[in-house]
Amino acid sequence: MSVVEVGERLRGRFSGILGEAVPLADYTTFRIGGPAALLAVPRGKEDLAALMKAVAESDTRFLVLGGGSNVLVSDAGFDGAVVVLGKDLGGIERIAKYEVYVEGGCSLNRLVEWAIERGLSGLEDLAGIPGSVAGAVRMNAGAMGCEVGERVTEVDVMSLAGREVVARRVTGEEMGFSYRSCALGDDDVISGVRLRLKEGDGDALRSRRREVLAWRRENQPLRQPSAGSVFRNPPGMSAGELIDRCGLKGMRVGEAMVSKKHANFIVNLGGASALDVRTLMARVKQEVMRAQGIELDEEIRLVGEIGEDTR
Ligand SMILES: Cc1cc2nc3c(=O)[nH]c(=O)nc-3n(C[C@H](O)[C@H](O)[C@H](O)COP(=O)(O)OP(=O)(O)OC[C@H]3O[C@@H](n4cnc5c(N)ncnc54)[C@H](O)[C@@H]3O)c2cc1C
Repeated sequence: MSVVEVGERLRGRFSGILGEAVPLADYTTFRIGGPAALLAVPRGKEDLAALMKAVAESDTRFLVLGGGSNVLVSDAGFDGAVVVLGKDLGGIERIAKYEVYVEGGCSLNRLVEWAIERGLSGLEDLAGIPGSVAGAVRMNAGAMGCEVGERVTEVDVMSLAGREVVARRVTGEEMGFSYRSCALGDDDVISGVRLRLKEGDGDALRSRRREVLAWRRENQPLRQPSAGSVFRNPPGMSAGELIDRCGLKGMRVGEAMVSKKHANFIVNLGGASALDVRTLMARVKQEVMRAQGIELDEEIRLVGEIGEDTR
């Protein structure tokens, strides 16, 4: 079964958005990316299960996105099915005094605010990180020395296993959280997450949130499209500082530029292509290696064949 047949099979029994040749630029914070052969935004867990089943029974490639805030998608797009978990799969439920269950498509910022309003502490340092809760858990997103994985006790995962879809519950320990990473693979979709928070004081939490957001406005180029930090921090070092020390702020390839505000951000000045960004990334890596002997690793996830202009 081809990707077109997957779409046809779902039509009529899928209540969310379903489209063909949908530009992924509209689903990424970089505003970059060619078309997805099939794009599906499930309205609930039944939609998600139906989509996964159809994909499992086909030869279609598969990609899951949340806010698209940590990805660089090829200009050629993605020749397969892209499922986007958004607010329709974004419920939050308090299941015990300090325990919360949240669906994967919930925005991380909404969860942070929800917790603060209930005097629950543990997520306030993550205020301002764009994207979904599932994306944050998959990437073990973090800021101010706090990582989301520290709060996660269980994760509901739907996995493509050959021609089957397997639903399983993974414990926080089994998630194997490490710096901007976890043990899940690309065929695993996080549908829900259980977190354990702590007691906090509402006013203190609100004030911390304001502080964190002010820090972001001061230090990150929030008015320009980007995908956050491009490179991972090497152990004990800051990738941004290494790039800055090479004098690369403002370096450009086409419409992609190393941010003048934060050297580990690449911003889209308007019409940047994935090739522009990838080529700029390669030049930054090359220069940091040449000048400081340190190999930078990508933090952003590359989707599809992007290539690199080696001129
Ligand atoms: C301005 C800006 C600031 C940022 N600041 C930070 C920061 O301080 N700290 C930080 O850690 N990150 C930061 N980021 C990066 C990004 O916001 C985080 O990594 C975020 O948690 C990604 O969530 P997302 O939903 O957008 O994931 P996406 O970009 O949609 O996906 C990222 C990865 O997760 C996978 N994924 C997405 N949804 C699911 C799912 N349901 N199940 C399984 N896998 C899934 C995708 O396949 C992909 O591999 C920043 C980005 C921007 C643009």
